Amino acid sequence: MDVTEFSVYTALALEARKKLIELLLRQDKEIREIFEKAADDLAKKIRRLEQAGQTSRIPALLETKLAENAAEIEASLKRLFDEGFEISVEAGMHQSKQATLRILNKARIDWKPIERVYFRKHTAAIETMQTRVLKGLTLSDRIWGQSRVARQSMGAIIQEAIAAGEHPYRVAEMLEGYVRNGAKTLVSQYPNMIERLEGNIPMDMSYESLRLARTEMAAAFGEAARQAAEVNPSNTGMKWSTSNGGNTCDKCKDIAVHDSGLGPGVYQLHELPDYPAHPNCLCVLSEVVEDMDDFVDRLIEWNHNPLAHQDIERWYQNIYKGGMIS
Ligand SMILES: [Zn+2]
Repeated sequence: MDVTEFSVYTALALEARKKLIELLLRQDKEIREIFEKAADDLAKKIRRLEQAGQTSRIPALLETKLAENAAEIEASLKRLFDEGFEISVEAGMHQSKQATLRILNKARIDWKPIERVYFRKHTAAIETMQTRVLKGLTLSDRIWGQSRVARQSMGAIIQEAIAAGEHPYRVAEMLEGYVRNGAKTLVSQYPNMIERLEGNIPMDMSYESLRLARTEMAAAFGEAARQAAEVNPSNTGMKWSTSNGGNTCDKCKDIAVHDSGLGPGVYQLHELPDYPAHPNCLCVLSEVVEDMDDFVDRLIEWNHNPLAHQDIERWYQNIYKGGMIS
């Protein structure tokens, strides 16, 4: 592996990683905003009812509002996950796709068919993510579950607060405070009420959704990286590295040092462990490839004589041709 090749692959891997991390950070913020907006809408509705002298009607009217609110949370989360998959799958394919296009370009082989293959893999990876079932639940089920928890928690807070005789303005404030600072802050301000709510509301309403998004986006990245690596003719495996965080768990350490003959942490594509290994796993996946210049030379040789390199001929028959329009 010469210096240029090392930097090409490293640069592509870093770009891909950066796309994923930026997505995760942006989604963290957007998810918090989805729940904050839901609580703020309810708080606004409560204040308006109080101002209109309809305090006694608050519980009944809020039932409808809570249902609408949950539907909105569900739709917003759904949109966030769909948009996120587009980006995380693209990031997961980035290294393989850019390197392969570069290799084909260097060998003066038409890269359009292979671009079509990547496009199909992109669609397939997204579909895999949207339809996969974990512990009996699809992603839609989980998102629906999150909106339901939000509805129940906010409903429970309103009900308990009103039953405890709190002024509607205080109830509105509680909702706004809960979604931003979690149940802990409410405990100090409303000790008696929270005692009754304990166990019925999550400490942090956004937490499960934040965790779900991080896990699903990382999984989409991993699925895409594995599928894309199959398209790169110079691929020889996938390397799993722990991040520099320093607090890597034992499971990830084991995966990153495991050696099945290709080197520590290097796996054949079909042997690659499920990524991420756990929620909030920050390990890094990257492709292991043949030396780029050597491979380009082989590709040129094969182009003149298909019998010269049977592995490339197999790639041509099984992968490349699939992207050719007949
Ligand atoms: Zn990990």
